[in-house]
This record gives sequence, structure tokens and C-alpha cells, in this order.
Amino acid sequence: MHSRRSAEPSETAETSSDGEHVDAIVVGSGFGGAVAAARLAQAGFSVTVLERGRRWRPGQFPRSTDLEEGWLWQVGQGLYDLRWLKSMLSLQAAGWGGGSLVYANVFARPAAETQDDRWPLPLRRQALDPYYDLAGTMLGVSPVQPDLLTGVVPTRTTFVEDIVEQTQIRPAMIRPNLAVRFGASEAWSRNLHGVPQRGCAFLGECVLGCNRSAKNSLDLNYLAVAEQHGAAAVTGAEVTRIAPDESGWSVWSKEGGGGDEHLVRRTATRLILATGSVATTELLLRSRDVDHTLPNLSPTLGRGFSGNGDQLALANFRRGDGDLTTGPTITTTTVLDVWERSKSVWFQVQDGAVPAVISDMLDQLLPLPRLRSWWTKLRRNDPARTIALLSMGHDSGTGRLELDHHGEARLRWANRWQSRLYRAEERVGPLIARVTGSRVRSVIPWSIFKKPVTVHPLGGVPTGRDSDTGVVGPDLQVHGYPGLYVMDGAVLPASTGANPSATILAGAEHAIEGLIRTLTGDSSWRAPEWDRVQPVPAPEDEAYEWIARRRRDTAGDGIVFDEHMHERAPDGAPGGELQVRLEASSLDRFRADPEHRLSVDGTITLAGLPGTHHVTGELHMFPRHGRHLMGYDLRFTDQDGQAWIGEGLKSQRGSGPLARYRSLTSAQLILHSESDPSRSIRTRLVLHPHNVLGNGLSLRGQGFTFPRRVKALVNFSAFFMTGVFGFHRRGDGD
Ligand SMILES: Cc1cc2nc3c(=O)[nH]c(=O)nc-3n(C[C@H](O)[C@H](O)[C@H](O)COP(=O)(O)OP(=O)(O)OC[C@H]3O[C@@H](n4cnc5c(N)ncnc54)[C@H](O)[C@@H]3O)c2cc1C
Repeated sequence: MHSRRSAEPSETAETSSDGEHVDAIVVGSGFGGAVAAARLAQAGFSVTVLERGRRWRPGQFPRSTDLEEGWLWQVGQGLYDLRWLKSMLSLQAAGWGGGSLVYANVFARPAAETQDDRWPLPLRRQALDPYYDLAGTMLGVSPVQPDLLTGVVPTRTTFVEDIVEQTQIRPAMIRPNLAVRFGASEAWSRNLHGVPQRGCAFLGECVLGCNRSAKNSLDLNYLAVAEQHGAAAVTGAEVTRIAPDESGWSVWSKEGGGGDEHLVRRTATRLILATGSVATTELLLRSRDVDHTLPNLSPTLGRGFSGNGDQLALANFRRGDGDLTTGPTITTTTVLDVWERSKSVWFQVQDGAVPAVISDMLDQLLPLPRLRSWWTKLRRNDPARTIALLSMGHDSGTGRLELDHHGEARLRWANRWQSRLYRAEERVGPLIARVTGSRVRSVIPWSIFKKPVTVHPLGGVPTGRDSDTGVVGPDLQVHGYPGLYVMDGAVLPASTGANPSATILAGAEHAIEGLIRTLTGDSSWRAPEWDRVQPVPAPEDEAYEWIARRRRDTAGDGIVFDEHMHERAPDGAPGGELQVRLEASSLDRFRADPEHRLSVDGTITLAGLPGTHHVTGELHMFPRHGRHLMGYDLRFTDQDGQAWIGEGLKSQRGSGPLARYRSLTSAQLILHSESDPSRSIRTRLVLHPHNVLGNGLSLRGQGFTFPRRVKALVNFSAFFMTGVFGFHRRGDGD
């Protein structure tokens, strides 16, 4: 196991000095570090980037089922760094390109309306939108494209779109922008930065590192630009200690490995930390509390940690066919806003390809061959019909990273597993299982220990006006330590609720532009690529807007039922009928409304008016004011194009249960032509006993989960029966 304890460097034989003093050292080559390195180098500064992981070339990413063959940072300094933070498992990557090497390519902006007061104005959508465009242009993003070989998008994309089609929230589903190069998968061509890439081969292996150079990872764009402009890249350099000195900053890194491990000291005028939320916070905590090289760091260090509300589940579909593992890892996003214990909970869910090697590897984790074969038979899962469901949203973001007695980060967080967000996210599985007949399981840390797994660790280095309120100022410079900056996910003030890398990029672009303008004295300095930037469409915004509108309109669970009434025409003539669907999209709102209104949509035919007409309007059910029990407000246009409006009233006539039944099953309908006030129709509609039964049987609850639908049904039935028996109080609350 790789030791994380702070190194004790001294100017002895084990420590060497390397290279010349540079203008800036950037530690970490992930999203924040890549932006800082590229822009500083473009602006003419000498830059060294120190990255603990390797430079992974196409074809070198691990594919063996043996965990020791390059997979884990903790075992031979491999690709994935799994950090058990005691109350959460955090996944990140190690290598030249950081998280971009293994990420699922989604380039998403957060929903503006969910960015609360913790988001300073410069980091909010409105201010950062141009920088998102810049970052999107740098990466080259677009939604999933058809595979050139088959002419269609991946099976999984249309498969999950069909599932959502059945749930009334289709407009809340989009195909997000992906940092993937689409096009001929065999031909090499140069990207915007002159780096050769191939088109996506739809292998669904993005989260294992792309062996074909089709993923637009940072080594192929930002970091390539940095190197083209003279930045020195040092991989296999794990920074263990930092300290201010007379030249600016000293940085020690552990290098070599394989028996030749030694510490190297480098110096720079400025130091930019970008080792990711957990590692950056940990390095600063050690600098303050163990090494005492930065003793005056803010007491807020470690606070504001968020797992971005991540939840991971696996769904296995038994029905249907087709390989769900192909295509880029993620291809769709569905935004949800549901009621959970009287509050609205906003989150989003993405589909994920599960590469076959991961399924194989999970099986291999079982120790005995017989146990393995027993398990494989028991689970009866077809790996080609398994997908990951990744949910993310707004957790409280009140976690606190601190050091344990080994000097390693651990998370202290009263992050209750019963929280509204986790409960709401957990309901997605059963919903999908119900609609599709599939089996959905949460991943083990959650299903057994109720410990979340995050692939989006954020926060730990709060921003504030001074060191009492934050570690860094708005310019991301550390309070009390001039020349030291933090530019990575650690400085995001709260969960993004969306995949965060675009926000880390945009935030770093904004911050580094400000720093370069200050350093050069050129207030108009900007990244050269601005000249090529086009607004990058943000498909997620349409989903965000639709779901926000839906919440405003429906706020809660609702009910729907049919009403079928017949016209009692004079003189026994054949009568018409009113056939409508009645809906209260929010039962809470329906009950709070003194008029208890339901929407009406259906058809009407009348003896006195030829044709069948589409009718809309409202039904007022046991309104608190007025003398009638129920009243229809109807509107339709007849065959001649004349608009009609009118009302159908069910009024109390007589007393006693029989009179009450008669009153509720008969309505006086009076209609007026809007264009010709002299034209009117007066008739009576009745509910036959079989219609009473049919109407009752058509009643359905609407809600996110089965219990909620049942609850809506029961609550509405109780309201209705209270009205039928005359117990609603007039001019008063329910
Ligand atoms: C499986 C997976 C899928 C994901 N999918 C998406 C997605 O689709 N969209 C999205 O927006 N986000 C996604 N993410 C999250 C995304 O990768 C992170 O939010 C992002 O990488 C964080 O960027 P960063 O700059 O903070 O740090 P990182 O990208 O983590 O970079 C930190 C770098 O610092 C290096 N480092 C750490 N410690 C040291 C040290 N002491 N010395 C030297 N170097 C060091 C690391 O090796 C690493 O290269 C995914 C993450 C995972 C794990």
C-alpha cells in the first residue's frame, strides 16, 4: 500500500534539486491544473506541472481482470485512486490528464436556479457561461452521434429513452454534451490543437481510459497546449510537502519508484494546487497541522465537502435484446424534481455502460472458484443487459475533511442516509424495475453499509473574504500565503448537482485569466482560443427549465379520473354525452384551493348541436363558496367555428342520502354562444349507476412511487367521500 504520511524531507542525499526556478509550479494535471498550466504557458510564463500518475498512451490502459495490473493507484500506482474516507468512498484517477482519463465525458452546466447563496456571483451560471463556451470549445463537445458503422446511436440510448417515454417526463430527458470525438473510428485526424485522434468506436470503455484516443481527455487538448507552449511535464512526481521560501515556494515530490524512490525539491514564484478535492485538502491540512509549513491556514480548511449527491445502482434488464454496453459511457440525462416528505427534491439520473471487464472483475473478487460460479449462476445477470444508473443532486455539502492519526484524509459528516435526496434517488430503481420488469441493485457500500460512493468529490477549500471565513479569496489565492493558489474541485462551494468537470474548467478559466491579467498588467489578456469560440448549446438547460415549470405547475402528487355523463334530452330524443378526463396534478394544491378545481379535457356531443366537440375547462368540486356541490366551467368550439362557454351545476336538491345521490348524479348544463348571445342551450346531464362505478374505477393516483400514488388515491377518496356525505364545511378550511 502506498504510504500517504507526510514525507520528512531534508537536504540530504535522498533529496535532490531539479531544474531551474520557474514562474509557476502546477501540482496535478486534472481539470483545474490543465487549465492553469495551458493558460500560464500561453501567457509566456515558465511552468512545471507535477503529476503523481503516469502518462497513459493509447493502448496502455489496463484491460486485464487482475486488479494488480495497472488498475489501482494503491497497487503499483495504477489508474484509479479509491479513497475510503470512513463515511464515503471517493473515486478519482491518477495520470497525466487526471480525472479526464477515466471520466464519462459529460460536459454539463449546473441548473442556475439550484445555485444557492453559497455560490459567489463570479461562479454562477450567468457569469461563467462564456467560460463554459470556451472550455467546451477547447474540449470539442457534442451530444452522442450515430455510429458511422451502424448509422444509429447506441442501443442503450434509445432503450433508456423508451423507458422514460412511458413516465410522462420525456421532455426532462436530454442527450448531454460529451467530450468525445465522433466520426470515422479507424482514421486519425488532428483536433483543434493539432493532436491526432480517432473517432469513437462505441466500445463503452470510456471509464477505463480510451485506448483509441477517441475521448477528448485533457492530455489531448489543454495539456497538449501547455506543452506546446513550453510547460515541462513531470509525471510520477507525487508532491508530499510544500513550503514558502525566499524565492516564493518550495515543492517536494516523491519520484522514481521501483526501489529508486527519492525526494526532489523544486522552486517557483507561484504555486498552484490542483490535485483534486480530497488530495488538495489533505495536502493543505498536512501542511498546517503536521508539517507546520503553513500554520496560518484558515480554520475553515476541510469544510464544505460534498459528494455531489452521487448514488450508483446497477440495473439488469431481462426483457428485450441488444447490447447495452456499447457507445460512450453516458449518453442521456434525465432531470427529476419530486416530492419527498413535503419538500421538492431536484436531481438527475444518467445511464452508464458497464464494460464487460468490470463485470468480470467484480466476479473475480470472490475468492473461491466454486463461490464464483455459484454467484454467477445465482445472479443470473446478462452483462450485456446491465447498465449503471448514476444519480447526482444537491446534498447538504456540510462534510468536513480532516486528518486521521496516519495523516490521511477522513470525512466527518452527519450525511444521513435517510436524507430526502438519497431517499428520492433510491426510488429510481424500483420505478425503473416496475416499468421495465428489471432488477435494480445499489452498489454494495450503499446497500449494506449505507455509505455513499462518489465519483464527484467537491469542496474542502472554502472561499471567503478573509481567513476567518475561507481558505482562499475570490481570486483563489490562499489567505496569508501570497503566490499560493487552489484551482480544482476543492474550491467549488457546494454540489453542482450536475457532472462538475465543466464547472471546474470554467471556474479555473475565469480565475487564471484574472491572475494572468494581474501578473502581466495587461487587463485585456485573454486565452487565444477565444477567437474560435462559438456558443456551445447546453441541452441540459431545456430539461432544467421543463422540470422547473412542471414543479411550479404541479407541486406534489395528483389524481386523475374519468367522468361519463349522458344528456337527458327532452321528449326522450337521443341525447348527447359528456366524456371527460378530470385531473388534479397536485393534490396539495387542489385541497388548498377553496374552489377545489380539477382540469377538464374530453369531448361533448349535444342533441341540439351537431357534431362531437373537443371540450376543456374546469370542474369545481365541493367548492367552499357558492351553493352548488360541483360545477363545470366548459369551453368548446362547434363545427361552424363558434365558441361556446357555459356551466354545468350539480346543486343540492332536498335532503337525505337519496337526495344527495340524485344531486351529485345530475347536472344542469347551460351553454352560451360567445359570438351570438341570443344562442344558448339548456339541458340536463345525468350519471347512470354503471357510469358512477366506471368513474370510480378509473380513479388513479399520480406520483413518483407506488406508496405515493396510493397515498394520493386515498387522500382524494377521503376528500371526495367527505363531500358526498356533506361534511365539507362551507366558507372555511377543509
Ligand atoms: C468514473 C468517473 C466518471 C466520471 N465522469 C464524469 C463526467 O462524465 N463528467 C464530469 O464532469 N465529471 C466526471 N467525473 C468527475 C471528474 O473526473 C472530477 O470532477 C474531476 O476530475 C475533478 O477535477 P480536478 O481538477 O478537481 O481534479 P482531478 O481531475 O482529480 O485531478 C487531480 C490530479 O492531481 C493528481 N494528484 C493528486 N495528488 C497528487 C500529488 N500529491 N502530487 C501530484 N499529483 C497529484 C492526480 O493524480 C490527478 O491527476 C467522473 C469521475 C470518475 C471517477
